[in-house]
Amino acid sequence: MKSATETITIFDLLDEQHPGADTELHYSNAYELLAATILSAQSTDQRVNMVTPALFKRYPTPAALAKATAEELEPQIHSTGFFRAKSRALIGMATALIDKHGGEVPPDMDALTALPGVGRKTANVVLGHALGIPGLPVDRHVLRVSNRIGLAEGDDAEKVEAQLCAVVPTERWTRASDCLILHGRRVCKPKPLCEQCLVRDHCDDYRTGETTDPRKRTQASARTRGTAASAQRKTTARATRTAAARPTLVKPRKQGK
Ligand code: SF4
Repeated sequence: MKSATETITIFDLLDEQHPGADTELHYSNAYELLAATILSAQSTDQRVNMVTPALFKRYPTPAALAKATAEELEPQIHSTGFFRAKSRALIGMATALIDKHGGEVPPDMDALTALPGVGRKTANVVLGHALGIPGLPVDRHVLRVSNRIGLAEGDDAEKVEAQLCAVVPTERWTRASDCLILHGRRVCKPKPLCEQCLVRDHCDDYRTGETTDPRKRTQASARTRGTAASAQRKTTARATRTAAARPTLVKPRKQGK
């Protein structure tokens, strides 16, 4: 594991490599980001961004989405995959916002993760990007990159989040996650582009040859696949444990980014 000083250096370098790192989901308020993040499970941000403009036009508020039926919602989100579970999650989430939070997205981890279809990763995305509360979402990219560099250890997203939060200053949590995600998408891919990486002098896997030795890379890839599969299984399990959909209409309040 890295010292606090080296950790700061690593994130400074990642900041330099990815100056525009941010969520790639399109949204204009916390409700939209929450819905988009639920849809992004086992899909791509680009795919979700193709679906959400029409979705948010038809259901601009939690109250509108809570009144949707699965029959009308499923075809609209079909292309993002797992559309039945996601439909239940979206309607359940919107209903819970109406019933328990006055139609607002609660700025609180416990309240967010009590919503249907919302796990810690989704909650951290919304807290950090739409509600101005530091959060460090851990997805498969964060797991892979942080393990390779030596910033964290293990494939349990919650434990890796705790390890990173312990060494990254609070005000940098969201940005740190954004950088790790973008690094995982663009540079530290399953087959990493180490020659393009600004943090390679601080990377444990690079130092030990796991990224350049074909035999070690095969072992590392198998580990990465196991890590991603584990994270995906948890996401799917949570998405399918969704939604008591009892729509109740209350007057929505607009929520800013
Ligand atoms: S040096 Fe290679 S393995 Fe290490 S973080 Fe950079 S791209 Fe990933």
